[in-house]
Amino acid sequence: MTVTVDKNVEEFTTTARQLFIDGQWVPAASGKTFQTPDPATGETLAHVAEGDAEDIDRAVRAARKAFDDGPWGRITPSERGKIIWRIGDLILEHADELAQLESLDNGKPFAAARAGDIPASADLFHYMAGWATKIEGNTINISAPYLPGANFHTYTLREPVGVVGQIIPWNFPLMMAAWKLGPALTTGNTVVLKPAEQTPLTALRLAELIAEAGVPDGVVNVVTGFGETAGAALAAHDLVDKIAFTGSTEVGRLIVQAATGNLKRVSLELGGKSPNIVFNDASPQAVEGAANAIFFNHGQNCVAGSRLFVQQDRFDEVVEGVARIASSIRLGPGLDEDTEMGPLVSDEQLRRVTGYLESGKNEGATAVSGGGRHGDKGYFVQPTVLTNTRPEMKVVREEIFGPVVVAAPFQSLDEIAAIANDTPYGLGAGIWTQDISKAHALAKKIRAGTVWINCYNVTDAAQPFGGFKQSGWGREMGHEVLEAYTEVKAVTAQL
Ligand code: ADP
Repeated sequence: MTVTVDKNVEEFTTTARQLFIDGQWVPAASGKTFQTPDPATGETLAHVAEGDAEDIDRAVRAARKAFDDGPWGRITPSERGKIIWRIGDLILEHADELAQLESLDNGKPFAAARAGDIPASADLFHYMAGWATKIEGNTINISAPYLPGANFHTYTLREPVGVVGQIIPWNFPLMMAAWKLGPALTTGNTVVLKPAEQTPLTALRLAELIAEAGVPDGVVNVVTGFGETAGAALAAHDLVDKIAFTGSTEVGRLIVQAATGNLKRVSLELGGKSPNIVFNDASPQAVEGAANAIFFNHGQNCVAGSRLFVQQDRFDEVVEGVARIASSIRLGPGLDEDTEMGPLVSDEQLRRVTGYLESGKNEGATAVSGGGRHGDKGYFVQPTVLTNTRPEMKVVREEIFGPVVVAAPFQSLDEIAAIANDTPYGLGAGIWTQDISKAHALAKKIRAGTVWINCYNVTDAAQPFGGFKQSGWGREMGHEVLEAYTEVKAVTAQL
């Protein structure tokens, strides 16, 4: 059975989509469009305006005007919070439609988007809405010893950073837009958002819902286009006060370089090669947990548990279990109700992931399950478990960003932290054991922004998320993200 698509989804995929600038839908200044393919077939799904530097400039100026002249800055925090809450409500009201669009554009199963991406995006706006009324400063008793006898009143204000450029990836298109827009709006910033060229559709639908929720013109602008043109122009623009980026570590470095011109603030959520550690005393659920850690979202997940370490006594059993699950996963188009795993997002990703599989096999790794492309239409890859790997292999060191896990045995608690930390990344980690002391002791030693014990891939609007080392700068979500979207001002009055 195939999910029947909503009328709105049909319209989205049959009429060319435009840019959202200053509250208006406009074509790219160049008049150019590009196509976004259906990853299950490789055929054209929709046409979208191809914004470039000129469109980015128009959008940034609109955001600048909306920030400098209002009315966004004059709206009370309570009203701002209500508008942001309403965005969350509208996402839920249109959940089926958004899940269909996401499934078509990204390839993920409709059911996964409907149960996960869409409600999580709504929840992010609902959570952030509450913060609008709770942005506070401090009062400080200063001493100023060089001014004996003087008396001061000092306080701090937390103010929005200003115009924020946000560049997001294609793996969780709507959720990444929510993670970025929610905190920026609740703290009073204005935004230019550039979605990934592979998956622009739900961000464009979200822009319509944001306008419907009552966000004033120019506060949120969405410019679709390519990374090297639109994205690079946004990262370099002098009227942008902050750039927030989620994507590859490689592009993260380019963003940092582009930001040096006006020293704009930068926050980065980058790649990972996260360890998932199963001890001898782990419960049987660890097997399914390890499979979910890597195969969720087809492994297209920056925090995927892509290095599986299993303590020696359980190695064969856990690896066989994960391989059995991998072999039983039903692959198909996202809108097919039987599908458990969809295609990868693009031809480029298909080539990249199968390239890694070839490299692993050439270097001597064994594919216990999968190991190659699935079918000859669309961008499907078989869920794969690799063993007989060595620490220096590319498949062990580099982020594959596909449904491929490398599994290796380990001996003891003493050695595992160093093995797990032997990566330039530090995004996530999983620990599976029934010994709580061991779990918490190891959690402290892992150099990563998120550590899961007896679970994996659990994220939440209230839980900070981000990376140590080359996995990024700063945190998203939780109250920690508010710091990334505000400047602190100290005000001192002599009494
Ligand atoms: P992936 O390799 O997984 O596609 P990228 O890091 O290339 O991830 O892409 C993430 C986002 O960064 C996308 O929106 C993309 O358009 C954008 N991007 C790519 N290259 C650049 C660049 N040079 N400057 C700014 N943004 C870019």
